[in-house]
Amino acid sequence: MTILDIVDTAARLREQLGGRILLPGDDAYDTARTPWNLAIDQRPFAVARPESAEDVVDVVNAAAALGLRVAPQSTGHGAGALADSDLSGAILVSLSALRGATVDPVSRTARVLGGSQWNDVLAEAAPHGLTAMHGSAGDVGVVGYALSGGLSFYARAHGLAVNLVRGVQIVTADGCLVRASADENPELFWAVRGGSGAFGIVVSLEIDLLPYAEVVAGMMLWDATQAPRVAHAWAEWTRTAPESATTSMRLMHFPPLPELPPFLSGRSVLVIDGVVLEDDATADAVLAPLRALAPELDTVARIPSAAVVHMHMDPPEPSPAASAGGMLVGLPADAVDAWLDASTTIPGLTFAEIRHVGGAAARRPSRSGALGALDAEYLVAGIGMVPVPEAAAAAQAGVHAFVAALARWHAPVLALTFIDGGVANGPGFGDASARLRELKAIYDPRAMFAAAHPVD
Ligand SMILES: Cc1cc2nc3c(=O)[nH]c(=O)nc-3n(C[C@H](O)[C@H](O)[C@H](O)COP(=O)(O)OP(=O)(O)OC[C@H]3O[C@@H](n4cnc5c(N)ncnc54)[C@H](O)[C@@H]3O)c2cc1C
Repeated sequence: MTILDIVDTAARLREQLGGRILLPGDDAYDTARTPWNLAIDQRPFAVARPESAEDVVDVVNAAAALGLRVAPQSTGHGAGALADSDLSGAILVSLSALRGATVDPVSRTARVLGGSQWNDVLAEAAPHGLTAMHGSAGDVGVVGYALSGGLSFYARAHGLAVNLVRGVQIVTADGCLVRASADENPELFWAVRGGSGAFGIVVSLEIDLLPYAEVVAGMMLWDATQAPRVAHAWAEWTRTAPESATTSMRLMHFPPLPELPPFLSGRSVLVIDGVVLEDDATADAVLAPLRALAPELDTVARIPSAAVVHMHMDPPEPSPAASAGGMLVGLPADAVDAWLDASTTIPGLTFAEIRHVGGAAARRPSRSGALGALDAEYLVAGIGMVPVPEAAAAAQAGVHAFVAALARWHAPVLALTFIDGGVANGPGFGDASARLRELKAIYDPRAMFAAAHPVD
């Protein structure tokens, strides 16, 4: 666009949407364009903050009339992936004002507004003795997480979160608000369960809940000097762990910071955490081999299920980070050694995680959508904190080097929710890629929607 085009388009956008649109120079523009991942500097043409489904329809129609793209965003936890898209000609549609959930305890389902966070769902589900297929952090957005797979600490027992989605209300590229479910617009429903924001703006979603008021969950912690002994033992333990147990192992390097608890500040530690969906006696028996490794700290106990979102120690506030992920076919002893070496030697890598997946997460249920399972046994994810912008390059290099260090054991699948920028997204859709592209051409022929995981 020339400068004249930009000025003209901005004026027409303002004319159509008035105060519902924020343009560069408006007071609130900078706050509204800032995602949860503070390392990502998004500079969209404009930002819209719809408060209703009707607002969303108006924004999509205005964008279509002016030839602008549209990028839906709930929280910006996935902003690193969206950063591969040029937003200079796009309206960033921040759904942060469209939050709230209602729970039907009889059908054990929740109806969730498009910008909701998992904490919104848990607050409504917990009083009914129910919980949800949330991930490790409660402030992650329901739509971005669930429609791109969603790996929870219930995954080995209950599969991917995307398979619990029963229907969506979505504004498509033609500005129509439609429902997609097994019975209505089934092809769109298939596509959106994996294709996510590439097919429209989800204004609400219905999702099944899980019948757990309390679960056995928590973490065990060792000094990093114990890592070789504990890591090999955990890998061995996962080989026979029941599907009721979903756990993760991380090597975590914490800087010395006064806001951190003393057991973390300035230390490198190995942490195993997770959930065991068993009664107390069975859970104790399952966990006994890990407890025999004499953790310095052991918080694993029966807790309210709503508290599981605090277990993984994710940052409670927006944070700057680079991340990268991959999946592994297995974790033999030499893979553990490669993980230990990479976790302790690669500069820029703050947290090096391996999650035990497989189980139900590797089995595609009948009637699933474009993404129904992850055919792999482990997830590997590297995170590099970016306290100052100058640290971004080292963090990016570090997290990618970490994932590459395990290349010998990579599975030919990717967990979309753990992929940030710098990776072609096509492989994440696997066998569904071709059909997704066909449906994209039908539902969004002008490729209006810019998504964290593009379908192109
Ligand atoms: C601290 C932290 C912990 C995490 N833990 C886990 C975990 O345990 N398991 C896991 O699987 N993942 C996890 N993730 C990854 C997370 O699931 C992804 O980053 C996901 O994209 C976040 O969704 P969001 O809506 O919050 O993010 P956003 O950045 O807001 O959205 C990501 C993408 O989703 C789409 N989208 C979002 N909202 C809408 C909407 N209303 N309509 C249409 N499209 C939409 C868009 O394409 C958007 O680009 C974690 C991430 C972080 C930073």
